[in-house]
Amino acid sequence: MKERKIVELKLISTDKKYTFLAVPVNSNFVEKEKENLDTPLNEIQSVPEIISQDVPEIASQDAPEIDSQDVPEVSLQDAPERVTSEQEILKVEGLEVNYGVIRAIKGIDFHVNEGEIVTLIGANGAGKTTTMQSIVGLIPKAAGKVAFEGTDITKTPCHKIAHLGMTQVPEGRRIFQELTVYENLLMGAYSNKDKASIKADIEEIYVRFPRLAERKNQIAGTLSGGEQQMLAMGRALMGHPRLLMLDEPSMGLSPLLVDQVFEIIKDINKGGTTVLLVEQNAGKSLAISDRAYVLENGEIVLTGTGKELSESEMVRKAYLGG
Ligand code: ATP
Repeated sequence: MKERKIVELKLISTDKKYTFLAVPVNSNFVEKEKENLDTPLNEIQSVPEIISQDVPEIASQDAPEIDSQDVPEVSLQDAPERVTSEQEILKVEGLEVNYGVIRAIKGIDFHVNEGEIVTLIGANGAGKTTTMQSIVGLIPKAAGKVAFEGTDITKTPCHKIAHLGMTQVPEGRRIFQELTVYENLLMGAYSNKDKASIKADIEEIYVRFPRLAERKNQIAGTLSGGEQQMLAMGRALMGHPRLLMLDEPSMGLSPLLVDQVFEIIKDINKGGTTVLLVEQNAGKSLAISDRAYVLENGEIVLTGTGKELSESEMVRKAYLGG
């Protein structure tokens, strides 16, 4: 018997592993993701998890018809919120960075698994920005190895790294101050030549950041700090990174905006983007992190899950105010 069971299927993890999450039609559904519904049903059946829920009263004409027998009975309550894997998307080994005689990074190892949010926490001057910038080739490495999706990128120049699928949102945002919000977003699509998909991507960004939609013709330099942060994140997302690296996204924002920015990061990650975060705001960042590393004077001194670190006495004393 056919019944209208899932109203829409939302792709929440890309690359080899697919997980489709049933979402009601009237939820925050991004138009572009509908393309993923073209996947033939037999392919959908082969994905590891399909999460279903009966919501016939809000089923729309557009909703795909799914034979209920084809769908494992899993309630949304049981559903994992996100998909992470043991597959390393980023691996950093023995990284050393010097500024002249200053040893800023003293041989650190860390990794980020696909689907995770991983945070490097540390005080001012601990070496967080240096780490991030050396990974993307903005600062030369004195020693060590960096691999992205299994490919050695230790010596890959910065402009090529941007095309590989990892994008950095630098500290201080660095948006194009004289351009409008819309033009800044266009700049984020530099590697995309397809006008229709750029347009769809921009619409998607406007759905995620309604404030940017309201201000699309405003000169970016006149935006508030929080809006500039959102624009910088939106611009980075225009390139569809598989790894988004954010350097202190909460810096200089009001507490309310800080909360909003962390919610948005969580949401971006739920959409399937892996996140490497660098933060001084240990409380907020550990709360959304799968794992984290504590960086002190260019060395990793502690690592664990976000929960473990937020409960660690050392972290509480040094970074959480007791
Ligand atoms: P912040 O939160 O203040 O940005 P951070 O953890 O990101 O701190 P880095 O900016 O990476 O730290 O700095 C790490 C160390 O390297 C610090 O001791 C800093 O003074 C030093 N440093 C950073 N940039 C330079 C530079 N261009 N020349 C010399 N030393 C530098």
